Amino acid sequence: MSERTKKIGQYDKDFIWHPFTQMKDYEEKEPLVIEDSDGAYLIDSEGNRYIDGVSSLWVNVHGHKVPEIDSAITEQLKTLGHSTLLGVTNPPAAELAKEIIDLCPKGMKKVFYSGDGASAVEVALKMAFQYWQHKGKPEKTKFVYLDNGYHGDTLGAVSVGGIDIFHSTFKPLLFESFKAPSYYCYRCPLNKTYPSCNLACADELGNILQENSSEIAAVIMEPYVQAAGGMIVSPEGYLKKVREYCDKNDVLLIVDEVATGMGRTGKMFACDHEDVTPDMLVLGKGLTGGYLPLSATITTQKIYDEFLGNYDEYKTFFHGHSYAGNPIACAAARGNIKAFENNDTLKKLEEKIELLEDELKEFNSLKHVGNVRNKGFMVGIELVADKESRDGYAPELKMGWQVADRALEDGVLLRPLGNVVVLMPPIGIPTSDLKKLIQVTYQSIKDVTDKNEL
Ligand SMILES: *Cc1c(COP(=O)(O)O)cnc(C)c1O
Repeated sequence: MSERTKKIGQYDKDFIWHPFTQMKDYEEKEPLVIEDSDGAYLIDSEGNRYIDGVSSLWVNVHGHKVPEIDSAITEQLKTLGHSTLLGVTNPPAAELAKEIIDLCPKGMKKVFYSGDGASAVEVALKMAFQYWQHKGKPEKTKFVYLDNGYHGDTLGAVSVGGIDIFHSTFKPLLFESFKAPSYYCYRCPLNKTYPSCNLACADELGNILQENSSEIAAVIMEPYVQAAGGMIVSPEGYLKKVREYCDKNDVLLIVDEVATGMGRTGKMFACDHEDVTPDMLVLGKGLTGGYLPLSATITTQKIYDEFLGNYDEYKTFFHGHSYAGNPIACAAARGNIKAFENNDTLKKLEEKIELLEDELKEFNSLKHVGNVRNKGFMVGIELVADKESRDGYAPELKMGWQVADRALEDGVLLRPLGNVVVLMPPIGIPTSDLKKLIQVTYQSIKDVTDKNEL
């Protein structure tokens, strides 16, 4: 290891506190220093190459060093680094807003910018809440969320989050919400089987709405894939059914497409699979192609209009972030959208998804793979100690991490979610790299689960 790598590693251990990381474990290992990139690959400070198997935690879209995004950023640097969006605008922010609306499901009309996914979720929650105040239904203050859902780590987002370990620590700080069942078919909370269930989980949500609609402002959910919950894929028709229940009960629908947006599921947005227009659509992660923090809460004219009024009526939406609409981030997002057009990304993705789904079938033959699921390029491979009973491995075995560590030896960088091995490569990944990613993952699962039986 070079002196330079050692020095960076030492500074890191001395001065950085890493997110979602047990620092006691971290301090015992040599840090992996990523310092260069090439397409679907990340390159460490020693020159080793790794396939970016989870898109740098679900943000990267076309790969790294994307010409359209690189040049959009460098061009923007020639004029303006930042200026506020509080009552003032800038060209990339305005032009990007138009481009986003053009891509969005029909009926989406206004873009409210923030920095991270969680901030954009806070915006959606507060917007929905304030909307009903203006509408003369101030008692509609509560939210419905799904078990296993994830919407970010700020307190509002955690309040509507369905992952218990993130919830329990902060419980006294959170506001009360209604929890509907997860659309987790492999471990159906209602003990039913699709399709004979007729989407009973959506009906449960419908019941909550019907019984409590007078106090419910909105439903918030991840459309088609509960990502952080374990890449849980919803059955077809679920989203549409939830939209119908929301309409029937005068409740807003917030879809969180922070993870599913920007092509990840095979269409630009997960909503597009079922032609659903939400009342609010939240974007983050892939919006800039994985370059810069930028998020957006996109809403309809109906919501927007309810906030219009005379200055002293105080109908203003009282929320904003310092870097909202940052021109460099917006320019990067425009480059990202341009790369979709130039490369015909979504069209080419169709074939890659076919290949992926074909190869994933093989995983079912592995003794400890209980469930393989995907929507487009979001893949969850759930490892189980026993296939028959579907019993999971004990957490202390860190099976997901064992697989990731094994894959790293063969040049693939993964980050699992508990016992779920996650694959979520950049959608622009070349076919040959995609094949390598799948093959290394297969072998890693096999090696680790075999070894565990000895
Ligand atoms: C990652 C994620 C968020 C939070 O985004 P951050 O940028 O990490 O704050 C919110 N919702 C979903 C669905 C996510 O996957």
